[in-house]
Amino acid sequence: MTKPNVPIPSVDEVLRAEAGQLAVARFGHTATVAAVRTAIDDMRQLARNGTTSFQHTREETAARMACAAFEALERQGAPRLRRVFNLTGTVLHTNLGRAILANEAVTAADTAMRYPAALEFDIETGKRGERDDALRDLVCELTGAEDAIVVNNNAAAVLLVLNTLALGRETIVSRGELIEIGGAFRMPDIMSSAGTKLVETGTTNRTHMKDYAGSITASTALLLKVHTSNYLVQGFTKEVGTGALVELGREKAIPVVDDLGSGTLVDLTHYGLRRERTVRDAINDGADIVTFSGDKLLGGPQAGFIIGRKDLVSACARNPIKRAVRLDKIRLAALEATLKLYRDPDRLPERLPTLRFLTRPVAEIGLQAGRIAVLLGERLGSAWFVSVSALASQIGSGSLPLETIASAGIAVEPVDRRESGRRLDMLASSFRSLPVPVIGRIERGAFILDLRCLDDEKGFVDQLNKLAVAASVGQAP
Ligand SMILES: *Cc1c(COP(=O)(O)O)cnc(C)c1O
Repeated sequence: MTKPNVPIPSVDEVLRAEAGQLAVARFGHTATVAAVRTAIDDMRQLARNGTTSFQHTREETAARMACAAFEALERQGAPRLRRVFNLTGTVLHTNLGRAILANEAVTAADTAMRYPAALEFDIETGKRGERDDALRDLVCELTGAEDAIVVNNNAAAVLLVLNTLALGRETIVSRGELIEIGGAFRMPDIMSSAGTKLVETGTTNRTHMKDYAGSITASTALLLKVHTSNYLVQGFTKEVGTGALVELGREKAIPVVDDLGSGTLVDLTHYGLRRERTVRDAINDGADIVTFSGDKLLGGPQAGFIIGRKDLVSACARNPIKRAVRLDKIRLAALEATLKLYRDPDRLPERLPTLRFLTRPVAEIGLQAGRIAVLLGERLGSAWFVSVSALASQIGSGSLPLETIASAGIAVEPVDRRESGRRLDMLASSFRSLPVPVIGRIERGAFILDLRCLDDEKGFVDQLNKLAVAASVGQAP
């Protein structure tokens, strides 16, 4: 068999094509030449394998390759970290970036990015300042703590505290609190990385004061309480609260650290949510150090707080590891702006997206679901059954692990139930292929979109006409 004679154009010929010129104008000469070379190599390979036959002129081939190069450049240029619609029903979804920020925080971060900032500079005296100064007073005001510093995230906060206050010595933790948060955050691993020896006390379901007391030795550096963020120990249980543990700690002169995980700054019952112990509660209970996240319930950028006794917090600030886990000016600016919103708790649900989502009335979400169900039903056609569905949202990120919030959304089910798993996977994939990917979940034979976090309804609806549900999805395989 003779291979088809494929006319392979030169790089210059491809660059001269209209799409080639557009590509140069948009992506620059160097990147375009590289993309064109790749396109030519790909074509040469196809021609060599005989897997392609062209009935085009040289110019036509050059034009097609210029288009291919343009598309490749466009794909490369698109951000890998893409915006998505979080319709999973988990408000603080760790894999989708947790909290989205308030406008005030976005503006502050924008300014910090565009201009020099007095990050470690005291404007009054003209002398060197401290990076944490901007936040210290605000955090202390909102929590009642004596002192505060911020680091990269709460995992770093815990690491820094343990390494500073318990290096080479023992840290006592209840067996009921040896958490794994997911990813690589397992309390025993963090402890060994921090260089402290984990001393487990009590049992999984019951830990008593006498367990802590009996585990204290001359090498005990810390008593650590850890919020069991993503599970509950229920039934025949006993735990020693921070307040009681502090009494023991004071008696033995051993600091008590309370790792709150999510850490809320306000009483959530004001907003109709279930009560979660606040950061101020932990400080009032006498915890010597309290650690918590910036991007969980607090609703700010990724960050970790270390607050509490001045001597202990400043020891953490002096640890060289602090330098390795410190915050940059962009997040510091966003965090300061977020924290300032807490001075006006009444308007917090309007201004802080996390709280706005958590407190959205289910009736309002239901109405939105009704509007969208009609449009989606039209778009998907007769092969799919689209309905408004009562749902239960989760807070996520280890906040109130068992609590769900009544919500509403859309359930999409294939009319033909044969191979419904495959059909649903393909449907979910079509939603993920939209310009702004839509992330839902598949549950009990339906593709579910929880609309609690859908604030950009127009943006969502406007792209529905691009929803390309493969023709085969609606039909029998
Ligand atoms: C989430 C969590 C952490 C880790 O916080 P990050 O901000 O994700 O680093 C640590 N401890 C507890 C109890 C948590 O819930």
